[in-house]
Amino acid sequence: MTGDILVFVEQRAGSVREVSYQLLSKANQICAELSVRLTAVFIGPKASFLSSDFYKKADRVLVLEDERFGDFNCEIARDVMVGIIKEQRPAMVLVGHTPWGMDLAPAIAAKTGLPLSTDCVDIKIEAGKVKAVRQLYGGKLFARVVFKDESKGCIFTVRPGSFSVEGYPDRMGEIVPIEAPKDLPEPSSRFVEYVDTGAGEVDITQAELLVSIGRGVGEKERIEEIQELARILGGVVSCSRPVVDKGWLPKYHQVGTSGKSVKPKVYLALGISGAFQHVAGIAGAGTVIAVNKDKKAPIFRVADYGVADDLFAFSDAIKKALKK
Ligand SMILES: Cc1cc2nc3c(=O)[nH]c(=O)nc-3n(C[C@H](O)[C@H](O)[C@H](O)COP(=O)(O)OP(=O)(O)OC[C@H]3O[C@@H](n4cnc5c(N)ncnc54)[C@H](O)[C@@H]3O)c2cc1C
Repeated sequence: MTGDILVFVEQRAGSVREVSYQLLSKANQICAELSVRLTAVFIGPKASFLSSDFYKKADRVLVLEDERFGDFNCEIARDVMVGIIKEQRPAMVLVGHTPWGMDLAPAIAAKTGLPLSTDCVDIKIEAGKVKAVRQLYGGKLFARVVFKDESKGCIFTVRPGSFSVEGYPDRMGEIVPIEAPKDLPEPSSRFVEYVDTGAGEVDITQAELLVSIGRGVGEKERIEEIQELARILGGVVSCSRPVVDKGWLPKYHQVGTSGKSVKPKVYLALGISGAFQHVAGIAGAGTVIAVNKDKKAPIFRVADYGVADDLFAFSDAIKKALKK
């Protein structure tokens, strides 16, 4: 396979989003496997790209800085990307599976005719062939997608949280300023404003230690005991869906297919059975420790360490040990 791996770098209000670092990390790994170059594409307002250090993660950065492009506009980003793809003929284009990426990637695919696989959770190179891994039926099955003809290139949108940001050595990549296409039409849509969706007091996607509460906690009143454990351990509280559905914790704590994908170094699952919709959200976690009084609970199949016990007995024992 020849041609660069192209990563579309997403910025919001001047700062590069976490998913772009994850894409760059994965792209670095693929580039090392295929011995190809990593090119990042950045579109943003003037003097914005140096405010983040993403450019150290690529061999080359194509930078389009223009006051008109401060806020994302799918039509502009599409036309810029299509121009680059036609000229550079990359082997692969990676875009975050974010609201913007979901808008942008199909628009690029439609204009270029390149095959597209969306919401991928992994990209593998096997026998020189690219295989995208996608979840089906809410994470119960994993499908491997191959393209009939990948010689012209392909596009993937990748689910945020699928890859960790690994420590590839920084380098000073080549910075290549590019111009907006001359015939860029006036877009039919325009950015109006950001509306805060209430991200919540904590961002569970950034936590290194998650203390996660399941229905096994039994009642809302006992959640405080687990919150105290999280405080002592220096972790952040997350939860399964029933805990949200019952109104015990706000939605932004929820892990899983209809919640958030997380990638803590340690995930402590307390009273969580391990339904696939939940487990799909912790694919990127480091060490998983499960506490469940049912020793046959499915969570033990994905846990690195399992404790078959009452979660409050476990919590009290840890608190006691740490207070000594
Ligand atoms: C479309 C769809 C999307 C979904 N999305 C999500 C999602 O994003 N996230 C999510 O989590 N779920 C999601 N679900 C729900 C999912 O299928 C499960 O129902 C849910 O994950 C179960 O949550 P739980 O493990 O907390 O509860 P349960 O399955 O009820 O498990 C509770 C566990 O606690 C244990 N337990 C009970 N008491 C104690 C105790 N004192 N000490 C120790 N262990 C104890 C029990 O043995 C049991 O294993 C989704 C479902 C659907 C249909």
